[in-house]
Amino acid sequence: IFDEYYIKSLIRSVNDWPAPGVVFRDVTPIYQSPKAHRMVIDSLIQRYVDTEITHIAALDARGFLPGAVIAYALNKPLVLLRKQGKLPAETETETYDLEYGQATIEVQRGALDANDSVLLIDDLIATGGTLLAAATLIRRLGAHIYEAAAIIDLPDLGGSTKLQDANIPTFTLCAF
Ligand code: IMP
Repeated sequence: IFDEYYIKSLIRSVNDWPAPGVVFRDVTPIYQSPKAHRMVIDSLIQRYVDTEITHIAALDARGFLPGAVIAYALNKPLVLLRKQGKLPAETETETYDLEYGQATIEVQRGALDANDSVLLIDDLIATGGTLLAAATLIRRLGAHIYEAAAIIDLPDLGGSTKLQDANIPTFTLCAF
């Protein structure tokens, strides 16, 4: 069973990284602990097994880790939402604002269609900009978003609320 206290105790808080004033929540200790890794992944698998989801769509790069394992376990196709310039062939593109500057993510055309119900996966929700841009891409391909899931929510930054307001159900395993 999922032990939120245990998982939160492993997540490392790094002050002033990547910029002064930011507290970065570092998930790498979860992957260094087989017990914690299994606990996180098993909770997500349990939540999404026997649902209507047809695809997992994972965010570059830390979303790829849980995304790939969950897609494997649920025997579902995995769609990669990548940073600009990484995907060959025809792509759909969405640019969004970061705290400083902008970012662009892409998905390959034809990766999804109107019959698909997608689970979006990333490691963390801060302002929600990344998952909102991901949802925009998925919807542009015609697919339905089943839910957006992350390991960590930072509710003070308003991202999960912003996603709910855009009719994107969200699920996170823990919050800081
Ligand atoms: P948002 O777009 O503001 O919600 O930021 C979420 C994205 O930035 C995710 O792809 C995260 O991987 C990354 N991110 C932002 N803050 C953190 C953090 O404190 N720890 C780990 N990743 C973060």
